[in-house]
Amino acid sequence: MATLFVTHPDCIAHDPGDGHPESPARLSAILRALEEPQFRTLLRREAPLGAKADAARVHGERFVEAVLATVPDSGNAALDPDTILSSASGHAALRAIGALISAVDAVMAGEANNAFCAVRPPGHHAEPGRAMGFCLFNSIAIAARHAQAVCGLRRVAIVDFDVHHGNGSQAVVEDDPTLFFASSHQFPFYPGTGAADETGMGNVVNAPLPAGTDGTGFRRAFETRILPALDAFAPELVLVSAGFDAHRADPLGGLELEEPDYAWVTARLLEIAGRHAKGRLVSVLEGGYDLRALAGSAAAHVESLMKAN
Ligand SMILES: [Zn+2]
Repeated sequence: MATLFVTHPDCIAHDPGDGHPESPARLSAILRALEEPQFRTLLRREAPLGAKADAARVHGERFVEAVLATVPDSGNAALDPDTILSSASGHAALRAIGALISAVDAVMAGEANNAFCAVRPPGHHAEPGRAMGFCLFNSIAIAARHAQAVCGLRRVAIVDFDVHHGNGSQAVVEDDPTLFFASSHQFPFYPGTGAADETGMGNVVNAPLPAGTDGTGFRRAFETRILPALDAFAPELVLVSAGFDAHRADPLGGLELEEPDYAWVTARLLEIAGRHAKGRLVSVLEGGYDLRALAGSAAAHVESLMKAN
């Protein structure tokens, strides 16, 4: 069995403009890192275009059409002050959805044990009715709904270790006990949500971390709060919002993680996937804005995924 790696050139073409931290160079840096010999055995696939109907499971048809109608023919258009579109952004956002859905289908079919989707734009800030924080559509929540509606799974978990709280994913999960959402993130910080007392229907676990928290505090939050709750939920599929902006070198985040922390958390999540979900784990790139730290952290994450095979 293999680890699947899914990406697409359209996701590099999405360009929010010079000086925007969510740059095409982020994805190029990850692709370069994964050319190293230890990644030779990755099963590599191009992301198909996700369907608008897939996105509508989370966002509704009208919102999906409205966002896609904002995509400019040339130049840039803004959905909010941070969320800037270029002509390629619509296709990129649909490739991100297609990457996740195809990865879920692949692990369900037993073609791979687990998968990493290196795509942009990211998705975890997108709420059902609002694009924000560099995110157009919530690709990971869309994948969770696909896993339930099409693959017939009952319990799907989303775990988010991006430095920012995944407010959009939480908004999808918090009223639905068939889903689970857990997040470690800097707090207080953008987008303002993610306090420990936001628990949904008992299916949401937030582990807010003060600025300056290092790998020790991060691992303690997972060991004492997130992993026990995830284990108790007994997910049939584990989805991971893999943002790498909690790295100590990141220019946006204020946490102090390092590459081995990403390898560690990936291994712990794989253990739980192994216990309840036949090892099925699909992760997707969210943030990470220092190119070197991003590439090294994503490589550590993927190496950890490959060790489960
Ligand atoms: Zn982030």
